[in-house]
Amino acid sequence: MKRLKRRTIIALVLAAAFAAGMVFFLVQWLWKGDEWVGFFGSQYYNSGAIYDTNGVLLYNGETGEYAENRATRVATLHLVGDQNFGTSLRSVLSDRLTGYNPITGTALGSHDVHLTLDASLNETAYAALNGHKGVVAVYDYTTGDIKCLVSSPSYDPNNPPSDVNENSAYEGVYLNRFFSSTYPPGSVFKIITTAAAIEEKDDLDQFRYTCTGSLEVGGDVITCPYAHGADMDINQCLACSCNGAYATLAMELGGSTLAKYVEQAGLLDSLNVNGISTASGSFVAEEDGSAYLGWSGVGQDKDLVNPCSLLAFMGSIANEGEAVVPNLVGSETIGGTAIPAALPDGKDTYETYSAETCQRLKEMMRNNVVTEYGQSQFGDLAVCAKSGTAEVGGGAEPHAWFAGFIDDPDHPLAFVVLVENGSAGARVAGSVAAQVLAQATAE
Ligand SMILES: [Zn+2]
Repeated sequence: MKRLKRRTIIALVLAAAFAAGMVFFLVQWLWKGDEWVGFFGSQYYNSGAIYDTNGVLLYNGETGEYAENRATRVATLHLVGDQNFGTSLRSVLSDRLTGYNPITGTALGSHDVHLTLDASLNETAYAALNGHKGVVAVYDYTTGDIKCLVSSPSYDPNNPPSDVNENSAYEGVYLNRFFSSTYPPGSVFKIITTAAAIEEKDDLDQFRYTCTGSLEVGGDVITCPYAHGADMDINQCLACSCNGAYATLAMELGGSTLAKYVEQAGLLDSLNVNGISTASGSFVAEEDGSAYLGWSGVGQDKDLVNPCSLLAFMGSIANEGEAVVPNLVGSETIGGTAIPAALPDGKDTYETYSAETCQRLKEMMRNNVVTEYGQSQFGDLAVCAKSGTAEVGGGAEPHAWFAGFIDDPDHPLAFVVLVENGSAGARVAGSVAAQVLAQATAE
Protein backbone atom coordinates (compact mmCIF):
# COMPACT_ATOMS: atom_id res chain seq x y z
CA MET A 1 0.00 0.00 0.00
CA LYS A 2 2.80 2.32 0.94
CA ARG A 3 4.61 1.44 -2.30
CA LEU A 4 1.48 2.05 -4.32
CA LYS A 5 1.10 5.51 -2.81
CA ARG A 6 4.68 6.38 -3.70
CA ARG A 7 4.12 5.24 -7.29
CA THR A 8 1.00 7.37 -7.51
CA ILE A 9 2.93 10.40 -6.35
CA ILE A 10 5.70 9.75 -8.88
CA ALA A 11 3.14 9.36 -11.66
CA LEU A 12 1.44 12.60 -10.65
CA VAL A 13 4.74 14.46 -10.55
CA LEU A 14 5.61 13.17 -14.01
CA ALA A 15 2.19 14.13 -15.35
CA ALA A 16 2.53 17.61 -13.85
CA ALA A 17 6.00 18.01 -15.38
CA PHE A 18 4.63 16.93 -18.76
CA ALA A 19 1.75 19.38 -18.52
CA ALA A 20 4.13 22.18 -17.55
CA GLY A 21 6.35 21.28 -20.50
CA MET A 22 3.38 21.40 -22.86
CA VAL A 23 2.36 24.82 -21.56
CA PHE A 24 5.94 26.06 -21.92
CA PHE A 25 6.07 24.71 -25.47
CA LEU A 26 2.73 26.27 -26.43
CA VAL A 27 3.72 29.65 -25.07
CA GLN A 28 7.05 29.46 -26.88
CA TRP A 29 5.27 28.33 -30.04
CA LEU A 30 2.87 31.26 -29.97
CA TRP A 31 5.62 33.74 -29.20
CA LYS A 32 8.49 32.40 -31.22
CA GLY A 33 6.93 30.17 -33.88
CA ASP A 34 7.73 32.77 -36.51
CA GLU A 35 11.38 32.73 -35.52
CA TRP A 36 11.54 28.92 -35.65
CA VAL A 37 9.99 28.86 -39.08
CA GLY A 38 12.27 31.61 -40.35
CA PHE A 39 15.38 30.19 -38.72
CA PHE A 40 18.37 30.45 -41.00
CA GLY A 41 19.35 27.22 -42.62
CA SER A 42 15.82 25.86 -42.32
CA GLN A 43 15.20 23.66 -45.34
CA TYR A 44 11.55 23.04 -44.53
CA TYR A 45 9.79 26.28 -45.37
CA ASN A 46 9.84 28.47 -48.42
CA SER A 47 10.79 32.07 -47.89
CA GLY A 48 9.47 34.83 -50.14
CA ALA A 49 11.58 37.10 -52.26
CA ILE A 50 12.89 40.60 -51.52
CA TYR A 51 12.60 43.24 -54.26
CA ASP A 52 13.66 46.87 -54.44
CA THR A 53 11.15 49.63 -55.30
CA ASN A 54 11.70 49.15 -59.04
CA GLY A 55 11.15 45.38 -58.94
CA VAL A 56 14.85 44.48 -58.95
CA LEU A 57 15.19 41.06 -57.29
CA LEU A 58 17.54 41.33 -54.30
CA TYR A 59 16.97 37.87 -52.82
CA ASN A 60 15.13 34.82 -54.07
CA GLY A 61 13.83 32.87 -51.07
CA GLU A 62 13.13 29.70 -53.04
CA THR A 63 16.59 29.31 -54.55
CA GLY A 64 18.56 31.27 -51.94
CA GLU A 65 20.09 33.36 -54.72
CA TYR A 66 20.98 37.03 -54.38
CA ALA A 67 20.72 39.80 -57.00
CA GLU A 68 22.03 39.05 -60.46
CA ASN A 69 24.38 42.03 -60.56
CA ARG A 70 27.50 41.94 -58.35
CA ALA A 71 27.38 45.69 -57.55
CA THR A 72 23.75 45.29 -56.41
CA ARG A 73 24.65 42.34 -54.17
CA VAL A 74 27.49 44.22 -52.51
CA ALA A 75 25.51 47.46 -52.04
CA THR A 76 22.47 45.71 -50.50
CA LEU A 77 24.19 42.98 -48.47
CA HIS A 78 23.52 44.59 -45.07
CA LEU A 79 19.81 44.94 -45.83
CA VAL A 80 19.22 41.54 -47.38
CA GLY A 81 21.83 39.77 -45.29
CA ASP A 82 23.13 36.27 -44.87
CA GLN A 83 23.24 34.31 -41.60
CA ASN A 84 25.92 36.68 -40.23
CA PHE A 85 23.71 39.78 -40.21
CA GLY A 86 21.39 40.06 -37.19
CA THR A 87 19.74 43.25 -38.46
CA SER A 88 19.13 42.03 -42.01
CA LEU A 89 15.61 41.91 -43.42
CA ARG A 90 15.87 38.16 -43.98
CA SER A 91 16.31 37.94 -40.23
CA VAL A 92 13.85 40.55 -38.88
CA LEU A 93 11.15 39.90 -41.52
CA SER A 94 11.44 36.11 -41.40
CA ASP A 95 7.82 35.69 -40.26
CA ARG A 96 6.57 37.82 -43.14
CA LEU A 97 8.80 36.17 -45.73
CA THR A 98 7.62 32.70 -44.70
CA GLY A 99 4.03 33.95 -44.36
CA TYR A 100 3.87 32.34 -40.94
CA ASN A 101 1.13 32.89 -38.40
CA PRO A 102 0.29 30.71 -35.34
CA ILE A 103 -3.16 29.68 -36.66
CA THR A 104 -2.43 28.57 -40.21
CA GLY A 105 1.32 28.05 -39.95
CA THR A 106 2.85 28.56 -43.38
CA ALA A 107 -0.09 27.00 -45.25
CA LEU A 108 -1.09 30.29 -46.92
CA GLY A 109 2.25 30.56 -48.67
CA SER A 110 5.29 32.77 -48.42
CA HIS A 111 5.17 36.54 -48.85
CA ASP A 112 7.30 38.62 -51.18
CA VAL A 113 8.52 41.87 -49.64
CA HIS A 114 8.87 44.97 -51.82
CA LEU A 115 11.18 47.57 -50.31
CA THR A 116 11.02 51.35 -50.59
CA LEU A 117 14.74 51.21 -51.43
CA ASP A 118 16.17 52.00 -54.88
CA ALA A 119 19.05 49.54 -55.28
CA SER A 120 20.69 51.60 -58.02
CA LEU A 121 21.01 54.51 -55.55
CA ASN A 122 22.74 52.12 -53.17
CA GLU A 123 25.20 51.16 -55.90
CA THR A 124 26.01 54.83 -56.57
CA ALA A 125 26.41 55.53 -52.84
CA TYR A 126 28.67 52.53 -52.26
CA ALA A 127 30.86 53.49 -55.22
CA ALA A 128 30.98 57.12 -54.00
CA LEU A 129 32.36 55.98 -50.62
CA ASN A 130 35.33 54.86 -52.69
CA GLY A 131 36.51 52.09 -50.37
CA HIS A 132 36.00 54.05 -47.13
CA LYS A 133 34.06 52.60 -44.25
CA GLY A 134 30.90 54.58 -43.56
CA VAL A 135 27.20 55.16 -44.06
CA VAL A 136 25.03 56.77 -46.73
CA ALA A 137 21.29 57.10 -46.17
CA VAL A 138 18.55 59.07 -47.94
CA TYR A 139 14.87 59.03 -47.01
CA ASP A 140 11.60 60.81 -47.71
CA TYR A 141 11.04 62.94 -44.61
CA THR A 142 7.29 63.17 -45.21
CA THR A 143 6.58 59.42 -45.56
CA GLY A 144 9.61 57.81 -43.88
CA ASP A 145 10.43 55.73 -46.98
CA ILE A 146 14.14 54.86 -47.14
CA LYS A 147 15.44 55.36 -50.70
CA CYS A 148 19.11 54.60 -50.12
CA LEU A 149 20.87 52.84 -47.25
CA VAL A 150 24.45 51.69 -47.50
CA SER A 151 26.84 50.45 -44.84
CA SER A 152 30.48 50.01 -45.79
CA PRO A 153 32.56 47.80 -45.81
CA SER A 154 30.55 45.11 -47.53
CA TYR A 155 31.25 42.04 -49.67
CA ASP A 156 29.70 39.88 -52.34
CA PRO A 157 27.58 37.22 -50.57
CA ASN A 158 28.13 34.92 -53.55
CA ASN A 159 31.84 35.08 -52.93
CA PRO A 160 32.59 35.97 -49.25
CA PRO A 161 36.23 36.95 -48.66
CA SER A 162 38.26 34.23 -46.95
CA ASP A 163 40.07 36.75 -44.72
CA VAL A 164 36.90 38.53 -43.53
CA ASN A 165 37.72 37.91 -39.86
CA GLU A 166 41.42 38.88 -39.98
CA ASN A 167 41.60 41.69 -42.52
CA SER A 168 41.12 45.13 -40.91
CA ALA A 169 39.49 46.31 -44.14
CA TYR A 170 36.45 44.25 -43.06
CA GLU A 171 36.37 45.50 -39.47
CA GLY A 172 32.77 45.61 -38.25
CA VAL A 173 31.51 44.28 -41.60
CA TYR A 174 28.60 42.38 -40.01
CA LEU A 175 27.22 45.59 -38.46
CA ASN A 176 24.82 47.73 -40.37
CA ARG A 177 26.48 50.95 -39.24
CA PHE A 178 23.33 52.97 -40.00
CA PHE A 179 21.31 51.05 -37.42
CA SER A 180 23.86 49.70 -34.96
CA SER A 181 26.77 52.17 -34.65
CA THR A 182 27.26 55.46 -32.84
CA TYR A 183 29.85 58.08 -33.79
CA PRO A 184 31.15 61.41 -32.47
CA PRO A 185 29.01 63.95 -34.38
CA GLY A 186 31.72 66.58 -34.72
CA SER A 187 30.39 69.90 -35.93
CA VAL A 188 27.04 68.46 -37.02
CA PHE A 189 26.29 68.84 -33.30
CA LYS A 190 26.44 72.63 -33.71
CA ILE A 191 22.84 72.36 -35.01
CA ILE A 192 21.82 71.30 -31.49
CA THR A 193 23.78 74.10 -29.84
CA THR A 194 22.23 76.51 -32.35
CA ALA A 195 18.70 75.29 -31.51
CA ALA A 196 19.37 75.77 -27.80
CA ALA A 197 20.70 79.28 -28.48
CA ILE A 198 17.67 80.19 -30.65
CA GLU A 199 15.24 79.19 -27.90
CA GLU A 200 17.21 80.23 -24.80
CA LYS A 201 19.03 83.41 -25.85
CA ASP A 202 16.69 86.36 -26.41
CA ASP A 203 19.60 88.45 -27.62
CA LEU A 204 20.89 85.91 -30.19
CA ASP A 205 20.43 88.41 -33.03
CA GLN A 206 22.91 90.70 -31.27
CA PHE A 207 25.44 87.88 -30.74
CA ARG A 208 28.80 88.67 -32.35
CA TYR A 209 32.03 86.69 -32.15
CA THR A 210 35.55 87.49 -33.20
CA CYS A 211 37.63 84.39 -33.89
CA THR A 212 41.39 84.61 -33.44
CA GLY A 213 41.86 80.89 -34.13
CA SER A 214 41.91 79.84 -30.48
CA LEU A 215 39.96 80.40 -27.28
CA GLU A 216 40.98 79.66 -23.72
CA VAL A 217 38.20 77.91 -21.83
CA GLY A 218 38.38 76.29 -18.41
CA GLY A 219 42.17 75.99 -18.56
CA ASP A 220 42.17 74.38 -22.02
CA VAL A 221 42.48 75.89 -25.48
CA ILE A 222 39.73 75.35 -28.05
CA THR A 223 41.08 75.86 -31.53
CA CYS A 224 39.79 76.63 -35.02
CA PRO A 225 41.71 75.67 -38.18
CA TYR A 226 42.42 79.39 -38.68
CA ALA A 227 41.16 82.80 -37.49
CA HIS A 228 37.61 82.84 -38.87
CA GLY A 229 37.13 86.59 -38.74
CA ALA A 230 35.80 89.52 -36.75
CA ASP A 231 32.27 90.37 -35.56
CA MET A 232 30.61 87.27 -37.03
CA ASP A 233 26.88 86.85 -36.42
CA ILE A 234 25.35 83.46 -35.58
CA ASN A 235 24.71 82.61 -39.25
CA GLN A 236 28.36 83.19 -40.13
CA CYS A 237 29.54 81.30 -37.05
CA LEU A 238 27.53 78.22 -38.10
CA ALA A 239 28.53 78.46 -41.77
CA CYS A 240 32.25 78.58 -41.01
CA SER A 241 31.72 76.19 -38.08
CA CYS A 242 33.65 78.33 -35.63
CA ASN A 243 34.64 76.21 -32.59
CA GLY A 244 35.44 79.30 -30.51
CA ALA A 245 31.97 80.78 -31.05
CA TYR A 246 30.19 77.50 -30.27
CA ALA A 247 32.30 76.82 -27.19
CA THR A 248 31.35 80.33 -26.01
CA LEU A 249 27.66 79.59 -26.60
CA ALA A 250 27.95 76.23 -24.81
CA MET A 251 29.52 77.95 -21.78
CA GLU A 252 26.66 80.46 -21.69
CA LEU A 253 23.93 77.84 -22.11
CA GLY A 254 25.33 75.28 -19.67
CA GLY A 255 25.58 71.48 -19.81
CA SER A 256 22.09 70.63 -18.59
CA THR A 257 20.47 72.96 -21.15
CA LEU A 258 22.47 71.38 -23.99
CA ALA A 259 21.50 67.93 -22.70
CA LYS A 260 17.82 68.93 -22.84
CA TYR A 261 18.13 69.88 -26.51
CA VAL A 262 19.99 66.69 -27.42
CA GLU A 263 17.17 64.71 -25.83
CA GLN A 264 14.49 66.80 -27.57
CA ALA A 265 16.16 66.10 -30.91
CA GLY A 266 15.51 62.38 -30.28
CA LEU A 267 19.22 61.60 -30.45
CA LEU A 268 19.25 59.66 -27.18
CA ASP A 269 16.42 57.32 -28.19
CA SER A 270 16.44 53.99 -29.95
CA LEU A 271 14.12 53.84 -32.98
CA ASN A 272 12.27 50.78 -34.22
CA VAL A 273 12.71 50.46 -37.99
CA ASN A 274 10.67 47.47 -39.24
CA GLY A 275 11.65 45.51 -36.13
CA ILE A 276 15.28 46.67 -36.11
CA SER A 277 16.21 48.56 -32.92
CA THR A 278 18.72 51.33 -33.57
CA ALA A 279 21.61 52.14 -31.23
CA SER A 280 20.90 55.15 -29.01
CA GLY A 281 23.27 58.10 -28.82
CA SER A 282 24.71 59.67 -25.70
CA PHE A 283 25.56 63.08 -24.29
CA VAL A 284 27.25 64.00 -21.02
CA ALA A 285 26.17 67.29 -19.42
CA GLU A 286 29.60 68.62 -18.43
CA GLU A 287 30.27 70.84 -15.45
CA ASP A 288 29.64 74.56 -15.94
CA GLY A 289 32.84 76.48 -16.67
CA SER A 290 34.83 73.41 -17.74
CA ALA A 291 36.65 73.00 -21.05
CA TYR A 292 34.72 69.73 -21.49
CA LEU A 293 31.50 71.74 -21.67
CA GLY A 294 33.03 73.91 -24.38
CA TRP A 295 34.11 70.83 -26.35
CA SER A 296 30.70 69.19 -25.94
CA GLY A 297 29.07 72.24 -27.56
CA VAL A 298 31.17 71.72 -30.71
CA GLY A 299 30.38 67.99 -30.88
CA GLN A 300 33.67 66.57 -29.61
CA ASP A 301 33.97 65.55 -25.92
CA LYS A 302 31.91 62.39 -25.27
CA ASP A 303 28.96 63.12 -27.62
CA LEU A 304 27.83 60.15 -29.72
CA VAL A 305 25.05 59.91 -32.32
CA ASN A 306 23.49 57.10 -34.30
CA PRO A 307 23.19 57.82 -38.07
CA CYS A 308 19.54 56.67 -38.22
CA SER A 309 18.31 58.99 -35.47
CA LEU A 310 20.39 61.81 -36.97
CA LEU A 311 18.63 61.23 -40.32
CA ALA A 312 15.19 61.42 -38.68
CA PHE A 313 16.25 64.58 -36.82
CA MET A 314 17.40 66.20 -40.09
CA GLY A 315 14.04 65.28 -41.62
CA SER A 316 12.24 66.92 -38.68
CA ILE A 317 13.98 70.26 -39.32
CA ALA A 318 12.67 70.13 -42.90
CA ASN A 319 9.26 68.99 -41.66
CA GLU A 320 8.43 71.76 -39.12
CA GLY A 321 9.52 69.67 -36.16
CA GLU A 322 7.85 66.36 -36.98
CA ALA A 323 10.31 63.47 -37.28
CA VAL A 324 9.10 60.46 -39.27
CA VAL A 325 10.62 57.11 -38.27
CA PRO A 326 12.34 55.58 -41.30
CA ASN A 327 10.72 52.59 -43.00
CA LEU A 328 12.00 50.05 -45.51
CA VAL A 329 8.94 47.98 -46.40
CA GLY A 330 6.72 49.25 -49.20
CA SER A 331 4.33 46.31 -49.68
CA GLU A 332 3.93 42.56 -49.32
CA THR A 333 2.47 40.22 -51.90
CA ILE A 334 1.50 36.54 -52.21
CA GLY A 335 1.90 35.33 -55.78
CA GLY A 336 1.82 38.90 -57.05
CA THR A 337 -1.32 39.91 -55.10
CA ALA A 338 -0.95 42.66 -52.50
CA ILE A 339 -1.87 41.81 -48.91
CA PRO A 340 -3.66 44.89 -47.58
CA ALA A 341 -3.58 43.67 -43.98
CA ALA A 342 0.15 43.26 -44.13
CA LEU A 343 0.84 46.79 -45.31
CA PRO A 344 2.77 48.77 -42.75
CA ASP A 345 0.62 50.64 -40.26
CA GLY A 346 0.43 54.43 -40.41
CA LYS A 347 3.75 56.19 -40.22
CA ASP A 348 5.41 56.49 -36.86
CA THR A 349 6.30 60.06 -35.85
CA TYR A 350 7.64 62.11 -32.95
CA GLU A 351 8.19 65.81 -32.29
CA THR A 352 11.59 67.49 -32.01
CA TYR A 353 11.80 71.31 -32.01
CA SER A 354 9.11 73.94 -32.58
CA ALA A 355 8.18 74.89 -36.15
CA GLU A 356 9.71 78.37 -35.60
CA THR A 357 13.03 76.97 -34.41
CA CYS A 358 13.11 74.51 -37.32
CA GLN A 359 12.39 77.31 -39.78
CA ARG A 360 15.33 79.33 -38.42
CA LEU A 361 17.62 76.26 -38.52
CA LYS A 362 16.51 75.55 -42.09
CA GLU A 363 17.45 79.08 -43.22
CA MET A 364 20.82 78.83 -41.51
CA MET A 365 21.55 75.41 -43.03
CA ARG A 366 20.62 76.74 -46.46
CA ASN A 367 23.00 79.65 -45.85
CA ASN A 368 25.78 77.11 -45.02
CA VAL A 369 25.50 75.60 -48.50
CA VAL A 370 25.20 78.90 -50.36
CA THR A 371 28.00 80.76 -48.58
CA GLU A 372 30.36 77.98 -47.54
CA TYR A 373 29.98 74.50 -49.10
CA GLY A 374 29.17 75.60 -52.64
CA GLN A 375 25.76 75.41 -54.33
CA SER A 376 27.23 74.40 -57.71
CA GLN A 377 27.84 70.78 -56.70
CA PHE A 378 24.09 70.40 -55.98
CA GLY A 379 22.82 71.88 -59.26
CA ASP A 380 19.57 73.74 -58.54
CA LEU A 381 18.56 71.62 -55.52
CA ALA A 382 17.74 73.67 -52.41
CA VAL A 383 20.10 71.71 -50.18
CA CYS A 384 20.26 72.68 -46.49
CA ALA A 385 23.13 71.03 -44.63
CA LYS A 386 25.77 70.95 -41.92
CA SER A 387 29.14 69.36 -42.37
CA GLY A 388 31.20 67.82 -39.61
CA THR A 389 34.79 66.77 -39.12
CA ALA A 390 34.91 64.57 -36.03
CA GLU A 391 38.31 64.04 -34.45
CA VAL A 392 38.81 60.39 -33.52
CA GLY A 393 42.28 60.55 -31.96
CA GLY A 394 45.09 58.03 -32.22
CA GLY A 395 46.62 59.87 -35.19
CA ALA A 396 43.81 58.69 -37.47
CA GLU A 397 42.14 60.96 -40.01
CA PRO A 398 38.88 62.45 -38.66
CA HIS A 399 35.45 61.17 -39.69
CA ALA A 400 33.71 63.30 -42.33
CA TRP A 401 29.98 64.06 -41.94
CA PHE A 402 27.48 65.74 -44.19
CA ALA A 403 23.86 65.79 -43.03
CA GLY A 404 20.78 67.73 -44.08
CA PHE A 405 17.85 67.77 -46.48
CA ILE A 406 16.41 69.25 -49.66
CA ASP A 407 13.89 72.03 -48.95
CA ASP A 408 11.51 71.19 -51.80
CA PRO A 409 8.06 69.53 -51.66
CA ASP A 410 8.85 67.81 -54.99
CA HIS A 411 11.98 66.22 -53.51
CA PRO A 412 11.38 65.88 -49.74
CA LEU A 413 14.61 64.04 -49.03
CA ALA A 414 16.81 64.07 -45.94
CA PHE A 415 20.27 62.55 -45.98
CA VAL A 416 23.19 61.51 -43.80
CA VAL A 417 26.67 60.73 -45.10
CA LEU A 418 29.47 59.55 -42.84
CA VAL A 419 32.89 58.73 -44.27
CA GLU A 420 35.07 57.12 -41.60
CA ASN A 421 38.55 58.64 -41.59
CA GLY A 422 37.47 60.66 -44.62
CA SER A 423 39.04 63.92 -43.39
CA ALA A 424 37.29 67.22 -44.23
CA GLY A 425 33.50 66.83 -43.92
CA ALA A 426 32.08 69.28 -46.44
CA ARG A 427 34.41 68.31 -49.27
CA VAL A 428 34.53 64.51 -48.93
CA ALA A 429 31.14 63.62 -47.46
CA GLY A 430 29.45 66.55 -49.27
CA SER A 431 30.59 65.16 -52.60
CA VAL A 432 29.11 61.72 -51.79
CA ALA A 433 25.81 63.41 -50.86
CA ALA A 434 25.83 65.45 -54.09
CA GLN A 435 26.24 62.35 -56.28
CA VAL A 436 23.46 60.41 -54.55
CA LEU A 437 21.02 63.36 -54.41
CA ALA A 438 21.54 64.13 -58.11
CA GLN A 439 20.50 60.59 -58.99
CA ALA A 440 17.67 60.47 -56.42
CA THR A 441 16.06 63.61 -57.86
CA ALA A 442 16.62 62.84 -61.55
CA GLU A 443 13.34 62.42 -63.45
ZN1 LIG B 1 36.69 80.11 -35.33
